[in-house]
Amino acid sequence: MDKVVVRDSPIHGRGVFAARRIEAGEAIIEGCRETLSDEALMALPEEERDFLSVMDGRTILMTPPSRFVNHSCSPNARGTDRADVAIRVIEAGEEVTVDYAAEQVPGLRLECNCRTPDCRGLLVVADVRI
Ligand SMILES: [Zn+2]
Repeated sequence: MDKVVVRDSPIHGRGVFAARRIEAGEAIIEGCRETLSDEALMALPEEERDFLSVMDGRTILMTPPSRFVNHSCSPNARGTDRADVAIRVIEAGEEVTVDYAAEQVPGLRLECNCRTPDCRGLLVVADVRI
């Protein structure tokens, strides 16, 4: 059974939800990341640019289902260059979330809707593209 399902999210658009309990430290979604060359980045259609992330100086395009992971100011997962990893136990049915600011989403400007007590409101990440 897949660990996650993609469905409508109360946070934003579609989200990724745990299909079963996921343990802290467990990889939730592996892969789903493409490292882009400068040429590939230049050629990337505008609508794909929402799914970029910068890690270790590399520009990474998140592919489904990883690209549907929503932001939360109290995330239960974090993205690495190879996987989304649970940072605490995620119960079946819970939405999987990461902190977009920590993930370095270039050019991000997001009015956060995570509704957690720690919500930071407006998130802004500098655009590192030249
Ligand atoms: Zn928030």
